[in-house]
Amino acid sequence: MSYDPQNIFAKILRQEIPCKKILENQWALAFHDINPRAPIHALVIPKGAYVSSADFYARARDEEIAGFYRFVGEVVAHLELEAPGYRLLSNCGVNGGQEVPHFHVHIFGGRALGPMLANAG
Ligand code: 5GP
Repeated sequence: MSYDPQNIFAKILRQEIPCKKILENQWALAFHDINPRAPIHALVIPKGAYVSSADFYARARDEEIAGFYRFVGEVVAHLELEAPGYRLLSNCGVNGGQEVPHFHVHIFGGRALGPMLANAG
């Protein structure tokens, strides 16, 4: 799947549409999800054009991957989620339920998050 530069997160990166920014560095941007599924629901996106996690791991430079995941840790700390705990999630492809074709990591927190998946089996 090729990268669609018109996807909503690409537009947020280009500041064509607004977001509620949490943190930003040279590698990534973190902002609040527009439709939060938990009291804290943040999205972290790399600044590079990657469709999915597999695309990111395959094409991003090592320093970009390290920079991205260190940034995820900084966002978790900034949101004060380390002590109470939190969940990271990345939906990939059709079965993963990915809606926006720009790689992203969800950070959920602010309450006990329950089972890992809604439905077993
Ligand atoms: P996915 O299903 O692709 O993992 O998740 C995409 C997420 O992006 C969803 O949780 C959705 O609520 C969020 N989202 C979609 N459009 C926008 C938007 O314009 N702004 C923000 N902040 N979040 C969005």
